[in-house]
Amino acid sequence: MKHIILLFGPPGAGKGTQATRLKDKLSIPHLSTGDMLREAVAEGTTFGKMAEIVMKEGGLVSDEIIIGMIRQRTAKEDCNKGYLLDGFPRTVEQADALDAMLQENNETISHIINFEVDDEALKARIARRAEDAIAAGQTPRKDDNPETFAQRLATYREQTLPILAYYRNTQPNTITTINGMASIEEVNAEINGAIAA
Ligand code: AMP
Repeated sequence: MKHIILLFGPPGAGKGTQATRLKDKLSIPHLSTGDMLREAVAEGTTFGKMAEIVMKEGGLVSDEIIIGMIRQRTAKEDCNKGYLLDGFPRTVEQADALDAMLQENNETISHIINFEVDDEALKARIARRAEDAIAAGQTPRKDDNPETFAQRLATYREQTLPILAYYRNTQPNTITTINGMASIEEVNAEINGAIAA
């Protein structure tokens, strides 16, 4: 079966960490729209410059552009066995577009992993992520500061969380809610169990 796995949860929930492990286990690519946007920012294209402003404010890049990016990326050969979606969809419009795209190919999302983490823990994790980057001599992500993070969390609640209600209506059996407060190993084991089931 083609693994089309959606990692769903607030910023800092651990989606990226788990995606890195899952992609090796399942030999499927990790598609992170945040990573794709950071590449565009690093390239300094006109689009990258525009995206950088939106990202620094903790807002969302336009649905049309993001949907186009995912459509192109998932059409590549390395997605034939499936893929992991991390950070997409982030709006109900994106979720609708994903459904339509999958339907065109007679495909469906195989698993939705819903990460639950409380806000205080998320704030602490993001602060630690920035500190760790500095300690390692790297530049922290520009959106890993308390002000932008508060906005990213608000954007998540307002625009992204409603997607969960949408999936609860349309495909409840694919959703597994996991406790994102548990250790990396425990979360990993829970996800592996859900995917094997
Ligand atoms: P992430 O690395 O997933 O936390 O994404 C970093 C930032 O990129 C987000 O705060 C948004 O500004 C932007 N972004 C990432 N994915 C999307 C998406 N699916 N739709 C719109 N904006 C996105």
